[in-house]
Amino acid sequence: TAPSKVTIVGSGNWGSVAAKLIASNTLKLSSFHDEVRMWVFEETLPSGEKLTEVINRTNENVKYLPGIKLGQNVVADPDIEHAVKDANMLVFVTPHQFMEGICKRLVGKIREDAEAISLIKGMEVKTEGPCMISTLISQQLGINCCVLMGANIANEIAVEKFSEATVGYRENREMAQKWVGLFSTPYFMVSAVQDVEGVELCGTLKNIVAIAAVGGRNRKCADAFARSGGKRSFDELEAEMLQGQKLQGVSTAKEVYEVLSHRGWLELFPLFTTVHEICIGRLPPSAIVEYSEHTPKFS
Ligand code: NAD
Ligand code: 13P
Repeated sequence: TAPSKVTIVGSGNWGSVAAKLIASNTLKLSSFHDEVRMWVFEETLPSGEKLTEVINRTNENVKYLPGIKLGQNVVADPDIEHAVKDANMLVFVTPHQFMEGICKRLVGKIREDAEAISLIKGMEVKTEGPCMISTLISQQLGINCCVLMGANIANEIAVEKFSEATVGYRENREMAQKWVGLFSTPYFMVSAVQDVEGVELCGTLKNIVAIAAVGGRNRKCADAFARSGGKRSFDELEAEMLQGQKLQGVSTAKEVYEVLSHRGWLELFPLFTTVHEICIGRLPPSAIVEYSEHTPKFS
């Protein structure tokens, strides 16, 4: 069979690390075409140059992952339709709020035999209930979608610190193994389990916990928010501290709150509920210390 062609849809902090991991493997494994195409949401840098031009010239995503070589076989492409056209393996890794629009643009533009994987943590909330991003991709594009999630901080994996992640798959174990092979390196250990929803929900909900306790960007902004006594907004801190990178925990907390509230489950999930109420200013940051006193009431 012909080698598989991989395209990455997204090129932020984690998307760029995914490109580095994948590019090192496509060169080594004959089952993959060497070239890895990466769709980049185009922007003009302060120097006046386009981000894609700089990535292709320097082999670095100077805005979202400065100082790390992606691999010479990574090609940045500003045209999403062109980037996905020949690929039969699609890796989705954008902040979740952009995915509905991206899926709409890709309908009818991808190969019929394409397989997808989502590295995206988040959900869309509809009146009929929550929709995980892998489901959105599957439904809108009519393709299979696995997920890859872990407690992964992009900047650590970029410098080859050890970490692990899990691929969640529905039925096709062989395809899951192919994804495992595409991402695994000696410092990034990947295994597969037959459970898309479980893996995706754990990855997503982790970003709310990160606001309250541990984590990379979520933790950094939450710290500044708490220090301001809740006076500065998360939107303002995200813009100031992350320079274009996106904070996922605050929007995920809102989305999960809507689901819990609709189902009358707020009291069963005091941590998720409290984090959202702090984010919107209904409770002070110090309320996080008291949330644990609310014992979940199971009926
Ligand atoms: P990021 O937050 O670093 O970067 C934001 C990206 O969004 C940039 O590539 C930017 O060009 C793009 N963008 C801005 N406006 C856009 C628009 N209108 N349409 C499309 N794209 C637009 O991105 P990231 O860190 O790669 O995060 C992607 C996903 O990966 C998220 O779901 C995140 O939770 C998840 N994730 C991140 C990490 C991490 O450590 N960064 C680790 C694991 C998972
Ligand atoms: P931060 O956005 O807090 O860095 O976390 C992203 C993520 O999903 C890490 O697993």
